[in-house]
Amino acid sequence: MFNSIYKLFKIPSLKGRLRFWFICFIVLFVFAASIPFIILEKQQRRDDVKIDLENMLNVQQLAIDTWLKERMMTIRSLAELPSIKGNDLEKSIEIFDSFDKNQNEFEGIVFVNSKGITEIDTSGTPGLDVSDRIYFEQAKIGNSFITDVIIGKQSKKPIIIVSAPVYDKKMNFQGLVFGSVSINTVNQVLKQFQDGNRETYLVDRNGMIITESRQGTIGERIETDIFENALNGKYIDQFYKTSNGDSVMGSYKWVHHNQWLIIGEVNKKTIYQPFYNMVLYFAGIIFLLILIGYVLMIAVSKKIEQPIQRVLDGTKRFSIGDWSYRLDLETYQHEIREFHELSANFNNMASVIESHIASIAKSEERFRTITEYSSDMITIHDANGNYLYVSPAGKEILQYDDHEILGHDSYIFIHPDDREQIAKSHEKLLKDGYVVSTYRIKRKDNEYIWFESSIKFMKEQNEEDSRIYTISRNITERKLVEQQLKEANKLLRELSTKDGLTGIWNRRSFDERIELEWEKACENNQPLSLIMLDIDFFKAYNDTYGHQRGDDCLKEVANAISNACKLDTVFRYGGEEFAMILPKINEGKAKIVAENTREIVEKLNIPHVGSKIENHVTISLGTATIIPTKYGSPLQLIEAADKALYQAKQDGRNCVKSYYQ
Ligand code: GH3
Ligand code: MG
Ligand code: MG
Repeated sequence: MFNSIYKLFKIPSLKGRLRFWFICFIVLFVFAASIPFIILEKQQRRDDVKIDLENMLNVQQLAIDTWLKERMMTIRSLAELPSIKGNDLEKSIEIFDSFDKNQNEFEGIVFVNSKGITEIDTSGTPGLDVSDRIYFEQAKIGNSFITDVIIGKQSKKPIIIVSAPVYDKKMNFQGLVFGSVSINTVNQVLKQFQDGNRETYLVDRNGMIITESRQGTIGERIETDIFENALNGKYIDQFYKTSNGDSVMGSYKWVHHNQWLIIGEVNKKTIYQPFYNMVLYFAGIIFLLILIGYVLMIAVSKKIEQPIQRVLDGTKRFSIGDWSYRLDLETYQHEIREFHELSANFNNMASVIESHIASIAKSEERFRTITEYSSDMITIHDANGNYLYVSPAGKEILQYDDHEILGHDSYIFIHPDDREQIAKSHEKLLKDGYVVSTYRIKRKDNEYIWFESSIKFMKEQNEEDSRIYTISRNITERKLVEQQLKEANKLLRELSTKDGLTGIWNRRSFDERIELEWEKACENNQPLSLIMLDIDFFKAYNDTYGHQRGDDCLKEVANAISNACKLDTVFRYGGEEFAMILPKINEGKAKIVAENTREIVEKLNIPHVGSKIENHVTISLGTATIIPTKYGSPLQLIEAADKALYQAKQDGRNCVKSYYQ
């Protein structure tokens, strides 16, 4: 989560993060701490103003009521004057003038006779008819009266009339005395309690403004919420708008026997201004504190950052291969313990890595020396067998340049006959991790050379990083020697098994073969026949034609009988004697084979003048057939065939004789 915040604000450094969290913390702290304070303080401020306003209105109510009472008492006392009661106009004028001179609250004092005509008027000319005025009506029924604001008949100014009836001793209505009070006077009374923040003004029951006010001129009507509430006897606790658009909080009091309404109003701005000032002041202080905190925090974060920066510098040096870089511990010993330890651990780590790198470099050098100077071909392949590295010896052996071999699949260089075997080896290698293979590989000149390779597979988690390491030895010469040896052995075997003169199997082969056929026949319980044959009068042939011609005759006879016989079992038994082993051939068939053989030799028609029976070369044959047992031996068969041959010689030669047991 934090990481996504850091990403969002793009602050990757530790320093930035510290600052970020510091600011977050302070903002949250200030916000959390100041919200209740602001709410409570605002409420408190409002309550205080309200109470203030109430108090002020109470005082004003008292003042106005008292003031009106006093004015009323003054007028009443004038109405009670004996000169007035006794209708002594002269005396009364004197008194009224002297009274008027000594006061300044009434504009004028007026005496109105019982007919409603002014008779004394300290501020104007008498003789005015005021009989239509309400105060006159009230006086007639014996009431003192205070009017609302009316426009003076003479002064044409807004005034209030305070009147008291005059009765003579017999309680006959004589008229009334009234004093006109300039509205300014009422204003003066109210102003005593006003200041710039609060405003109070009087309205009558009709909402008409009686005293000076910012809400309107005298005589105008107000239609604000407070007036409505006052009429309904409700208390108002909300801000409301005045006619000039100000948002105000107000309160009211009825005065003058509920005839007038004192409205006190305080502007919303005025209420909250001190509060806003205070908030501003506090905000200023908090800002200053944050600023100091921020500077301190930067100093602290620098303290933290410096050691980290040093380690960072160190790692930068490492990244360019300078492992010898160390932090100077002495310089940092006054730092906090953790950083001191960090620096020490950093140095230790650097030493360990440096020594490891040195040893890796050394072993790499050793490896390079081995691979570069080895006469064996050392190659590295990826897991698919592509060449990644070929040692110099390898390139020399194969005659390829780097670009002709590196990156290429090693299979394409392998002899087609060996590819299947190599594929199997590869599978085994991947399974077992190690394999040894012998195969042919094509050189640049298209010659194939033999390699014997020890192949090691180093598997890595990531298959792309897995490697096959191969050490290959050129064994072409060894293979050549092996081949020569094989051929020599073959020759040797042939020499030891074949007759040098005739090229057919020799006596040694006969001995081995007769044993083998004997055993086979034994196992299969089948007959085994043997034909022994001997050239007749061969000594005489030699004597007649010479030993060389004798040899030629032997070759010719051997060739003829071995070609005629479908089996590869014709042997030179010795001298001019031959043998034919006939497996699975019974006596009758053996005889036929023998007779055919005799005819073949006779048909060769090799001249033999020394023969006592014919003038060409003939042979005598003896056959023997036996069903061999494990108790018997091939000798039995040989002796029997030999006996039959002897018999043939005895019986005149150039014939076949058989021997049965
Ligand atoms: P028979 O009809 O009774 O077999 O009379 P023979 O003369 O053939 O028999 P004998 O055993 O008296 O003579 C065999 C002769 O074969 C003697 C020897 O010189 C001759 N001989 C044996 N081996 C060779 C050989 O390799 N080359 C030649 N040219 N003659 C050989
Ligand atoms: Mg012989
Ligand atoms: Mg002979």
